Amino acid sequence: MSEAATQVPASSAVKTFTAKAYAAQSPTSGVAPHTIHRREPRPQDVQIEILFCGICHSDLHQVLDEWHSDAPTIYPCVPGHEIVGRVTKVGNAVKKFKEGDIAAVGCMVDSCRHCEHCKAGEEQYCTEGMTLTYNSDDKILGGVTYGGYSQSIVVDENYVLRVPQNLKDNLAGVAPLLCAGITTYSPFRHWNVGKGSKVGIVGLGGLGHMGVKLAKAFGAHVVLFTTSPNKTADAKRLGADEVVISKNASEMEKQKNTFHFILDCVSAEHDVAAYLKLLKLDGSLVMVGAPAKPLSIPAFDLIMGRRRLGGSAIGGIRETQEMLDFCAERGIASDVEVIPIQQVNTAYERLLKGDVKYRFVIDMASLK
Ligand code: NAP
Ligand code: ZN
Ligand code: ZN
Repeated sequence: MSEAATQVPASSAVKTFTAKAYAAQSPTSGVAPHTIHRREPRPQDVQIEILFCGICHSDLHQVLDEWHSDAPTIYPCVPGHEIVGRVTKVGNAVKKFKEGDIAAVGCMVDSCRHCEHCKAGEEQYCTEGMTLTYNSDDKILGGVTYGGYSQSIVVDENYVLRVPQNLKDNLAGVAPLLCAGITTYSPFRHWNVGKGSKVGIVGLGGLGHMGVKLAKAFGAHVVLFTTSPNKTADAKRLGADEVVISKNASEMEKQKNTFHFILDCVSAEHDVAAYLKLLKLDGSLVMVGAPAKPLSIPAFDLIMGRRRLGGSAIGGIRETQEMLDFCAERGIASDVEVIPIQQVNTAYERLLKGDVKYRFVIDMASLK
């Protein structure tokens, strides 16, 4: 596909510069080269040269417009919300960052800052709606926000994360922490996963493999449920105490009524009720996976066992920093397959087949 026309920013009052990017132009286009505008940093802004950007399955849902009824895709769409890079410029009011620092940006670049959830540090549940890193209204430039499949990004310093020193030699492995890491860390913290918990992780993809590593680091007994028998050895290496092939009815039967907590990290339609049955009395099944189609849940699987079904979205900025610091202390990063940006469409095809080990990360040097 040829390079698409440069978008003209809606607000001409804000100075901008251009950046190379990869964008989807329609649900069937795949991603291809595109040029976008970024704002010149305001006093509170940090400008980042992007070094690595992870590929989340959410990028694929969004590019394909699979979440049309909840979050319709605005094209051109520049995905990417697992961003690590080098600070190249800071506004004169910025306190936390200076030129040359390594910094990170996740799924959220702003929120209202005054609602009860923002004040509590849970900006991802902002009652006015957080500004997502891509496919959100761009309140400063007008138009839509553009994500990390790009040379650079400009973000208010309050929504930028510090990368701890001992994670800096593996920045490709750090990038996925910004979504896959925090999205699994946050529910473990909220539901008090720790020593003595029997925890199930469903699906060994980007989120699932971070779920296994983090649940293990919290001290839980970890059981990985997979549709891919060939991932068994990896799951154990990543920290799973047991691996269950979810298509095997007798293996599933043996796990009935035994779990305190199960985190469902699956991107596609599947039998969620099969996992409810595995919960103990008062156990919780939490969805972080976001399949496009509504779930089908038999009431009796909730009623019997007083089970709970919940959900969780990424994490707030404070908790995301806490997660990065926790990963730095424990030497935890993502297992990645680094690719040039020209191979994103192939990576998407592999994601659809569950063929990922265990996060694709774009080396942004390939965009130059
Ligand atoms: P991913 O890397 O593609 O992993 C998904 C895994 O799900 C696959 O590797 C596969 O694991 C399993 N799977 C795929 N199709 C399946 C099917 N038909 N039946 C059963 N299992 C299947 O995806 P991801 O990036 O981890 O994202 C997972 C989901 O979380 C996506 O829906 C994404 O949008 C969502 N998400 C939510 C949040 C949030 O804040 N809640 C944040 C990020 C992502 P096995 O091969 O092991 O079965
Ligand atoms: Zn994500
Ligand atoms: Zn708010």
